[in-house]
Amino acid sequence: MTISGAAIVGGVCGAPIKHSLSPALHNAWIAAAGLDAAYVPFSPGVNNFETFVNGFRGGAIRGLNVTIPFKERALAVADHASDLARMAGAANLLIFAADGSIHADNTDGPGLLGAIAEQAKGFDVSAAPVVILGAGGAARGAVAALLLAGAARITIVNRTLVRARELVEAFGPQVVAAEDSALPGLLPEAGLVINATALGLGGGEGPAADLTLTPETAVIMDMVYKPLRTEFLRRAEAAGRRTVDGLEMLLRQAVPSFEAFYGIAPPAEVDVRSIALKLLGEA
Ligand code: NAP
Repeated sequence: MTISGAAIVGGVCGAPIKHSLSPALHNAWIAAAGLDAAYVPFSPGVNNFETFVNGFRGGAIRGLNVTIPFKERALAVADHASDLARMAGAANLLIFAADGSIHADNTDGPGLLGAIAEQAKGFDVSAAPVVILGAGGAARGAVAALLLAGAARITIVNRTLVRARELVEAFGPQVVAAEDSALPGLLPEAGLVINATALGLGGGEGPAADLTLTPETAVIMDMVYKPLRTEFLRRAEAAGRRTVDGLEMLLRQAVPSFEAFYGIAPPAEVDVRSIALKLLGEA
């Protein structure tokens, strides 16, 4: 691959960044498309994020993906933002315009919806209540996308109830907060149950929700993708439920970023899921 002086540069910024899958995925697409382009990882000091981002104003690079712990600050540093980023209170995509301004977007939510569309074909998020376990940044992004997609009722169940209530305040009456003890009453009505906590990461136990209580038609999703088949998803499978994995969400959120950076859709022939599975030690 040749990188000329005219190359389009995109990147990803987080702290830490070295385990990010994004450089491998974007560069595989760049190579397959034969683009004069590059996608590079950045890890600015935690106190230097704004200085780092402001340095790109005017288009020194085309754009940046943003990951933990900078997503909220990415929204704050931008001059304008999409509805989704504003609703989510966080941005994972910054685009640097030639006029010096920064536009913020959030592709995590579309990634989540894309993963559901791919792995639970035909599922209608508006048809039955949604239960989200967790109330952090990932849950907030999920609520924003699900509401825009037509979800009528979303219940947030979180260890720290006050954080779940913050989401209710942010999103209004379609979103309610509940304690773990409410789950046996909520799960029999749920169309979609999402683990948006960090539980299960690295192979530990997932949230304690009894998934056998969900309707047979329910879809169970885990945002955690390391391991790919989390304990939560294995329990869902054992109960005979359809499942959606966190890796598909991660892969899907990369697509609109690539399009925003390089102006074309990612080449369909690249099997980014296989590339990611190899990097995760799952293949
Ligand atoms: P976050 O803002 O730090 O929130 C973490 C959430 O997990 C909070 O609700 C927290 O509850 C809960 N939690 C943590 N430890 C817990 C425990 N021992 N018991 C019960 N609840 C616990 O993190 P985030 O950014 O929302 O990310 C959440 C997960 O989603 C992470 O595993 C992340 O890797 C994953 N994620 C995946 C994707 C993807 O593309 N697949 C995208 C974004 C995030 P408290 O409020 O009580 O602390």
